[in-house]
Order: sequence, then C-alpha cells, then structure tokens
Amino acid sequence: MLSKIMKICLIMIAAVGFSGFFDQLQAHAEQVTFKDVKPGDGYYDEIMFLAKQGIVNGYSDGSFKPNANLTRREAATMVGRALGVDGTPRKTAFADVSAKDYASGYIQSLYEKNFITGRSDGLFHPDDKISRADMAYLITRAFSLQEMSQYLPFYDIVQDSPEYEPINKVTTARITNGFPDGSFKPGEKILRSHFALMVARAINPNFRPPAEAEKVISTGEMIASQVAQYGPSDNYHDVGTIPSGAQVKIYKKVAGWALVSTDTIKGYVKLKYVREPDELLKGKIIVLDPGHGGRDPGAIALDKTEEQYINYNFGVAAQSALQKAGAVVIMTHQRDKDCSPSKDKELQCRVDVAKANHADLFISIHSNWFSSEDAYGMQTHFNDFNDPDYPGVNDHPKESKILANVIQSTVPQAIGMHSRRVVDDNLYVTRMNTVPAVLIELGFLTNPSDLARLEDPATATKFGNALVEALRQYFMSVQ
Ligand SMILES: [Zn+2]
Repeated sequence: MLSKIMKICLIMIAAVGFSGFFDQLQAHAEQVTFKDVKPGDGYYDEIMFLAKQGIVNGYSDGSFKPNANLTRREAATMVGRALGVDGTPRKTAFADVSAKDYASGYIQSLYEKNFITGRSDGLFHPDDKISRADMAYLITRAFSLQEMSQYLPFYDIVQDSPEYEPINKVTTARITNGFPDGSFKPGEKILRSHFALMVARAINPNFRPPAEAEKVISTGEMIASQVAQYGPSDNYHDVGTIPSGAQVKIYKKVAGWALVSTDTIKGYVKLKYVREPDELLKGKIIVLDPGHGGRDPGAIALDKTEEQYINYNFGVAAQSALQKAGAVVIMTHQRDKDCSPSKDKELQCRVDVAKANHADLFISIHSNWFSSEDAYGMQTHFNDFNDPDYPGVNDHPKESKILANVIQSTVPQAIGMHSRRVVDDNLYVTRMNTVPAVLIELGFLTNPSDLARLEDPATATKFGNALVEALRQYFMSVQ
C-alpha cells in the first residue's frame, strides 16, 4: 500500500517538474540580490525576474549598475540568454569578437538568426554603447514584434526614417512609452535598467503597462485650418486637413501638439490652433434672460419687428458662445414663451430661475426704445441702491457693478455700437436678484443704424464672443 502511494508521488513530482514548477522552486532557492537594486526602484521586479532566470548576473562586485549605459556585447548577451540561444563561446563572423569573448556565442547565434548585424565596416563594435533606436531594432527582431500603430506619440521621430518602424513596434507592444515630455530620444544611449525593463516586458507581457483605452480629455474648436499629422511634429505624414471652426475631441497633448478628431479625421495638430473651454468659465452657471417673450412682445422697432425676437436671437448666440467656453447656460424661457403662467409673477419667475439653479450670474438682454431716432448705443444696468418706492436691493451689488462695467467696456466696441454708459437703477430683475445681475440694452430699435446692426445675425455672433471675453474678465477680477 505504502509503496503504491510513493510511486504515485514520484510520478506526480516528475510531471510537475516538467511543467516548470520545479524550475520556479529552484529559482527561489537561488535568491539573487544586487547591492544597487532595491525594492521600490521602478525596475526592481523586472531585474529580479531576469536575475532569477539567469538572464542578468550583474558584476562580480555584486552590483548591477542600473544607471550605466549598456554595451552592444551586454545587450546581445542579455537577449541571447532571454531567447535561450546557444551561448557557447566560439568563433564569430566579426573580426573584433574573438572566440575567447564570453559573449561570442550569443553574438554569433543572434547574428545567424539575423537579429543583429555588424556596423558598415563589417565589425560588431562590442564595446560601443547601444542606442535606444538600436534597442528597438534588436527587441523587434528578437521577439518578432509585428503590430504597428497608425499614430506615434513622439515628437522627435521622423516617419520616413528607417528607425520609425522598430520604434513604432516596441511602442505598440507597450515595451516602452518613451519619455514623459513626448520624446523617444532615439540617439540616446540606453541605461542598463531601462534595457532590462524592456527585455522583461518582451519576455513576460505581465510586466507591460496595461493598454490605455483612448479617452477624450477635452473638446475644442479649430481656430485655423490645419493639416493633421500621424505624430506630434511636421516630420510625420499628413492625414488630411481639419478646417477652421471644426469642433474636435482632444485625446492627448504632447509637446505643444494635440491628438484630435472630428467625425471624419483624426490626427495631431498644433495645440495653439485648438481653442479649449476656458478654465475661468468652465462649469460656471450663467442664467440668460432674453427680455420679454410670450404675452409680452416688448418694444416695437421701426420696421415693426418685436423686441422679444431680437433679444432672443442675441440670447441664443450668447448661449452658444458661453457653452463652447465651458459654461452651463440656463435660459429663463423659450422663444415666444413666458417664464410664469401668471403675468404678475413673470419677472419674479425669471429671478427665481437664477436662485433655484444657484447661478453665478444673471444677464438680461433687451433692446431700447425712444420717442425719436436721436437716441442710439448700448448701455448696461445694475442695482446698488434701495429706492423706497421700489424696496429691495440686489444681494451682490459690488459684483453686479463689476459685471456691468466689464460688459460695457467690452461689448459695445465688439458689436459696433456706440457705448453709452453703465446705469445704477432699480429695474426689477437686477434689484430682486439673489445673484450678481445686469440688464443689457443692446441698442435702439428706434434708431435706423442701431436697428440694422441688431437685425444682422453677425452682430449676435460677435455679441456672444464679446460676452465670453467680458465674463472671463469678470471671473478673473472677482475670484
Ligand atoms: Zn425690453
């Protein structure tokens, strides 16, 4: 009975031994340490992994010299051991690598497999330091890396250069990410620690950083037409042209370039040509109140146009520009609709929209009327005093005044209107507001040249952009 169990055990041990378990036990038994490689170093696990497999041995003084450069001889040895090629020292194809050289077997084996070549002079130059580009060639060939990416994130690579393909392949395989500044530094000599890291990743994909899902980090608008590239410099091939005004998704920013896409095209463009949401306006809650609407048409223009429609057009243009700049815009009512079902509560309803939404600002947009054509130009109202006849005062009079001033000093010029003045008075929506509030009178419906501007859609667009600029100044001065 006992001998039968023993037999089974022996068979099991043999089977486990073949499966590699025994190798691991043995590796554990030979605990390798280097005096200059410590737990916590970025490459510790990888170097220990290679050491346990006998792929790296370090120096006789017990060091690994992680920050030293690697020679071509050392690189061939490390890769040769990793691949398990015949390392028996022997005569080589290179006059400068003798059979006595400890690495001669690895160099000759890799040469026979076409993984390494000599230099143009026919020699191997075993003591030369290996460059990062040469590393890419060696790793690509030795580990048969095939997959390539369409886009490469390095600014210092030329797509038509011979090293482009191997560098693309080692990057696509996640064996290296290059440097955080967006460079690959192909001509730079590689460190022993970096090369070890890459060999470990080549052998064992568990050491490769996880593939990052490409995600949109921001959005923007092209402010000039740009030829998109396959990488972050003009040394890549052209993908195609992204027109000025195109809305783009932004995936990555590298060395002054951004990887962006539209619905039809994707590529790197210079970041300075992409306008992103303004940090100052991002997430700010702006309530826009186009004056009148629904029951109340407002004033009537010289050509019988109702004020409500002009105000609404400017409101929509402002909404669009502010949203592109990152603000959250809430309108007090829809086109041709009231805010409140009750006429008496209409203005309080608009004020309440700002309170209920914890708005940062309330901006009411109106057009002016006068009994003759003589009055013209834009003015901005706020409230900073308590009139006994109209009790109440805005909760934020100081901010309201700042807002009125930046708007009045920015917008009229931008939309081609004469700048009249800032007015401290007691209009309902400025006075009763719980947030900083202004009321803009864009221009006079009773002045022909003001009216022509107010009815030109280009003026509304300019108004939106100018309001963004004014609000930037406002948030800069109150933050
Ligand atoms: Zn009005």
